[in-house]
Amino acid sequence: MDRITAARGGELRCKGWRQEALLRMLENVLENGENQKELTVYAALAKAARNWDSYHAIVNTLKSLEEDETLVIQSGKPIGIMRTHKYAPIVVMANCNIVGRWATSDNFYKYQEQGLIVWGGLTAAAWQYIGSQGVIQGTYEIFQSIARMHFGGSLAGKFILTAGLGGMGGAQPLAGTMAGAVILCVEVSEARIDKRIEVGYLQKKTDNLDEALQWVKEASEKKESLSVGLLGNAAEIYPELIRRGVQPDVVTDQTSAHDLMYGYIPSGYSLEKAAELRKSAPDQLQADARASIAVEVTAMLEFQRRGAIVFDNGNNIRSQAVQNGVENAFDIPVFTEAFLRPLFSRAIGPFRWVALSGDPGDIQKIDQYILKNFSDNDVVVNWISLANQYVPVEGLPARIGWFGHGDRTKLALAVNEMVKTGELSGPIAFSRDHLDAGSMTHPNIMTENMKDGSDAISDWPLLNAMINCSSMADLVAIHSGGGGYSGYMTSAGVTLVADGTADADLRLKTTLDNDTGLGVMRYADAGYEEALDEVNKKGIRRIDTTLKENE
Ligand code: NAD
Repeated sequence: MDRITAARGGELRCKGWRQEALLRMLENVLENGENQKELTVYAALAKAARNWDSYHAIVNTLKSLEEDETLVIQSGKPIGIMRTHKYAPIVVMANCNIVGRWATSDNFYKYQEQGLIVWGGLTAAAWQYIGSQGVIQGTYEIFQSIARMHFGGSLAGKFILTAGLGGMGGAQPLAGTMAGAVILCVEVSEARIDKRIEVGYLQKKTDNLDEALQWVKEASEKKESLSVGLLGNAAEIYPELIRRGVQPDVVTDQTSAHDLMYGYIPSGYSLEKAAELRKSAPDQLQADARASIAVEVTAMLEFQRRGAIVFDNGNNIRSQAVQNGVENAFDIPVFTEAFLRPLFSRAIGPFRWVALSGDPGDIQKIDQYILKNFSDNDVVVNWISLANQYVPVEGLPARIGWFGHGDRTKLALAVNEMVKTGELSGPIAFSRDHLDAGSMTHPNIMTENMKDGSDAISDWPLLNAMINCSSMADLVAIHSGGGGYSGYMTSAGVTLVADGTADADLRLKTTLDNDTGLGVMRYADAGYEEALDEVNKKGIRRIDTTLKENE
């Protein structure tokens, strides 16, 4: 079968743009994905569909689906078509949700083997992944926040050590150089290093640690930004740097440490040996992976003790280390709590849009609109200017911007108008990461150490999905699984199509206001000052049950 790429241009294969848009989004996640043959988009096992039969059935159904029908998808497999109405979602899906006590990684692997389930990642099975750009800005915002909090506003001359150059981790070198730093990325697969160099995210590569450190030293001294891919295993390189007394300023890791079977490669292993043991001795492979993670996290803790800013970048590495006896692994904070919570409290998070025509000019025009009409928003203006310069087009042209409550609606309505007047060459799909204010519970990433102790309460993403369905979104998804594939997280995703119609105006305004409104309410409920301020400033209709007038 030919390699799948997203359709471009104005010709419809479906009965309307809403269906066509979702079909192109599905094709686009595969076009941008890591291993199309396996339908894998990123993070070792995050898939766009259950299997190829399911994929083809989804495509055929979207092509014949009427506007007043809804396609129901269960863990990447199309289940049926429901007669709904033209304001109902075109697609609803639930991916990898397993009941509490059964939600273990062993059960996940078993159900997956039986063909009953896939893990959807956050944006893979919900067809919202736009390539590495999606995480570039998140990573860039983390680095900028670290610069502001710890280095007087700039990372020039600072040395960031990290690992993993996969689907998500591949964004790290570009985000690092955009932030002005020198970044060393340890990666066990040469093919992954080459891929990041090919797309322009990574500058140099070597398999020689001495050479890598020399480059880092020279660039740091000259305060020049640089990214280096070092072929090696993080569980070997991190402790070696400790032994040599090399001290980075910032340390993290974005290997697939959440997955001991298909993700993290133990020290001393080649990729071939890992593949072989996956079949012949999976228990040994997982035990070795966990032991290596423990070694790596021990080194990260030592970097921290020696004064580096060390953080968990959302890959569950600390939990794996704890299970292998590194009791203080949680001395390393998670990035959301350490750097991003004030933004999420105002529902400022990873909003994104995709030019369904395939014309990069559409994204440029939206960039220009933003630079002109959001000029007082420093975070967005700074990012859009850099993204224009550094972020290559991957798949359908797309852009991400950290907008909050009200601003997302303002932008989306303006874009819908640009579609209507023909200023843009085709419709635009809006979505966001699931890791957003009101749409994710992950007690070890998004909601760790919440002020009110509500870290593990997953009512919020479920409410989010229900509200977005009621608000007429085009696609709504509920996911579970996450790190370790067990019950570590629940999240909800949403996609909307700006096709230039009045109905799209209604869908965009209602859904985007409610999506972010619930996010602000979630943080206000937990007692965050920024969220309470946002409620007052933006007139969000939160019910405060502690007020006397309720009595
Ligand atoms: P991926 O599977 O595409 O890539 C992981 C990379 O790590 C691979 O290239 C692999 O070769 C490399 N690797 C594995 N073991 C290694 C080792 N011991 N030393 C060096 N390299 C090693 O995964 P991805 O999509 O890049 O995601 C990575 C992790 O980040 C996942 O756990 C994912 O869940 C997490 N993630 C977090 C966020 C966030 O919230 N910040 C966002 C996206 C992904």
